[in-house]
Amino acid sequence: TDATAHLDALTRVIPDFPEPGILFRDLTPVFADAAALASIADALVAPFAGAYDVVAGVEARGFALAAASAARSGHGLLLVRKAGKLPGATLTESYALEYGEAALQVHVDQLPAGTRVLLVDDVLATGGTLAASHRLIERAGWALAGTAVVLELDGLGGRERLAPHEVLALQRA
Ligand code: IMP
Repeated sequence: TDATAHLDALTRVIPDFPEPGILFRDLTPVFADAAALASIADALVAPFAGAYDVVAGVEARGFALAAASAARSGHGLLLVRKAGKLPGATLTESYALEYGEAALQVHVDQLPAGTRVLLVDDVLATGGTLAASHRLIERAGWALAGTAVVLELDGLGGRERLAPHEVLALQRA
């Protein structure tokens, strides 16, 4: 597809970032290209047309993608933020990082119960981030309409961890 061709052309692979031994996939050149950004924003949400009310993005690169997808498809945006940034009533879910723990939050009273939320992020690795986001959406009383990522990293068990929820990945590596 158009989106896949853009990803093939523009994704950079950076060895030893942010730590030795990690092969980091850098999508910032994709974000910087107008045609690539538009095609990816569209491809993330197109399969779910008519089945979602709002696009949710996970801080921080998920924000950029979700905002583009939401604006282009005429939907609102829900922010899944790192803990401590939202001023209102929040729900919190923690998840394990390679070293330590992190937590994500959403504002609870922002959307009515039953709102269909399409969740978007840049990269699926171990799935911890998206699993925590799924728990937040469920606890808030919203319905998960789908999960879409630009890139799925194979061999880290992310897809299995999110089961029985399906994940749309534009590209795998
Ligand atoms: P997970 O929780 O292990 O699935 O990690 C996913 C999170 O780590 C995503 O929010 C990504 O932004 C980030 N991440 C993991 N690996 C990469 C990578 O190679 N490139 C860019 N981001 C990555």
